[in-house]
Amino acid sequence: MLILSIGVLVWHHFRGDTKMITISPEKYQYYAADDKKVGGISEAVLVEKNGKPSMRCTMKKGKYAWPYCEAAIHFSDSIFEGIDLSSYSKLILDIDYKSADPNGRLRVYLRNSNPIYTKRNDGASLKFNGVEYEPGFNAGPKEIALSDFQVMTWWIADYKVPVEHAAPEFTNISIIEIATSSSVKSGDFEMTINSIELRGSWIKENTLLKIILYAWLVIIIAYILYEQKRLNKNLKVSAYRESRLRKLNDSLKEKNVEFAELAHRDSLTGARNRNAVRDWLDQMSQQVRWGKQTFSVIYIDIDYFKKINDKLGHQIGDDILREFVLVVTSAIKSTDFLVRWGGEEFVVFCPNHNAQQATEKAEHIRKIVEHHLWCHNESLTCSLGVTEMKDERITEVIARADDALYKAKNAGRNKVITSVSVGNVSTSSRYM
Ligand code: GH3
Ligand code: MG
Ligand code: MG
Repeated sequence: MLILSIGVLVWHHFRGDTKMITISPEKYQYYAADDKKVGGISEAVLVEKNGKPSMRCTMKKGKYAWPYCEAAIHFSDSIFEGIDLSSYSKLILDIDYKSADPNGRLRVYLRNSNPIYTKRNDGASLKFNGVEYEPGFNAGPKEIALSDFQVMTWWIADYKVPVEHAAPEFTNISIIEIATSSSVKSGDFEMTINSIELRGSWIKENTLLKIILYAWLVIIIAYILYEQKRLNKNLKVSAYRESRLRKLNDSLKEKNVEFAELAHRDSLTGARNRNAVRDWLDQMSQQVRWGKQTFSVIYIDIDYFKKINDKLGHQIGDDILREFVLVVTSAIKSTDFLVRWGGEEFVVFCPNHNAQQATEKAEHIRKIVEHHLWCHNESLTCSLGVTEMKDERITEVIARADDALYKAKNAGRNKVITSVSVGNVSTSSRYM
């Protein structure tokens, strides 16, 4: 837009005033006129000289006080129909003037027709936009600015033209008159009109500047609206992205919880795994050490499980492991923790249970397992090792429970053996 504006201004500066009208005898009617019609005795004739219209005048002083001769160029047959010259700024005249007066001057009138002051059958009622200049002889073209024209004051007075119409006016010029000046001597005059031209701008500088200004305003407003629309769109896209991210984040959080849960569960049986109780066991052992808690462990191992696998297949073995978890879970409290310790071995952690209470719970589990109707339609038993935690590490307690379990196996299986730690010595007792 900046380049376009500069381009237009440069063009206007160098090429903007190329609008032109050439006034020539081929296009318009040339006439000679003299003062006879107003009582004078001067004589003017129009002849051709070297292909150019030339007015020859014999100026004589008669009764008429202001003798004159003139060449008149009519733009149409009617004095009411002219040409709008308001967009032209210069009149360029190339006239060779031979006059009795050495500094001979000519009067130039651009006669404007306007129904407000122009009357029918009265050629003098056309407005006299006039200027006087010195054409010289062989002096070449001379430029007269239209802004230098003035309306003849006698004409304003004679026709009582209202002040708002008294200014020069070029909207409907129907005649150009080139006349001898007001103070000429008697004698012979010759006025050869080599050329008449009118030059103007295609567009006035002010108008052009206004158009450029409005174009800038339109473009700036359009740009602001476009930017606003773009920003709104971007805002919507970011809001949409934000809500998508929020949803994704929420679902990731849910998945995280799910995965964390899964990480604490044994995938085959759904029972808790060792990870699930690691921290909790540390807390328990601390509480037991401080005497705030009693805590017992039941170590369970399914009897002859290998035989089941061998006989019925691994798949059925898996089903029985799942069923085993359900059966044991139904036999313990919700505050107890059943953990698949590995293979067909499970550990039940019993907070607030001393050895006695844990042994009773182990016996309860043993019975429920023994009397349960298993999916493979055969009986199933398990052996259990029980012990209560003292001021010791969790690994020591589990090792003692495992030891008790080993003894239960050796005692013929389907047994509960409780191991009680007294100082460094463990004593075992069989429940059944
Ligand atoms: P007991 O404990 O009475 O001494 O005999 P057992 O046959 O149960 O003992 P053992 O430790 O020799 O065998 C355990 C078997 O458990 C071996 C293995 O094939 C089976 N087992 C361990 N984990 C899985 C499992 O995830 N699925 C299946 N189907 N079998 C398992
Ligand atoms: Mg085993
Ligand atoms: Mg076993």
